Amino acid sequence: MAAAKKNHINFPYCKRCKKCCCLSSGTDKITLSRHDIERLRNAKLEFKVRKDGSLYRLVMKSGRCPFLKKDGCALPEELRPLDCKTYPVHFIPDGKEDYLTVSLKCPSWNKVSPAFLKDAKELAKREFKHWTKAERIGYWV
Ligand code: SF4
Ligand code: SF4
Repeated sequence: MAAAKKNHINFPYCKRCKKCCCLSSGTDKITLSRHDIERLRNAKLEFKVRKDGSLYRLVMKSGRCPFLKKDGCALPEELRPLDCKTYPVHFIPDGKEDYLTVSLKCPSWNKVSPAFLKDAKELAKREFKHWTKAERIGYWV
């Protein structure tokens, strides 16, 4: 029997420092596709977005993600934006070649394993099926 496809992956070396959910610069950085927004709105969650090219950015509250609570992310894993699901890895498709980047802001970035990279890429590819072509292009330009 084929293995079930994961709709989230866990980064086993996450230190729960929440740096990826907080901003020091005050600029919004979490990317949302229309599909992400629809999923969050269907779950009756309150949040604000701002348009950024073909995509949207989650508007932060006092430099923190509005879904970040005392005990961590309040969202079920499957509802989290793609950026969060694969962090500290970002998978970037450009139509010809695929790129994987690792955020050096994560204190555990050097623990990212080939297996995690593979899972992040597969998960991102499944998510991108719900994104428009313009959104996919907008993600890497
Ligand atoms: S920055 Fe890295 S270690 Fe810190 S919470 Fe995010 S994924 Fe975990
Ligand atoms: S949605 Fe959750 S994981 Fe993503 S930035 Fe917000 S609190 Fe962090």
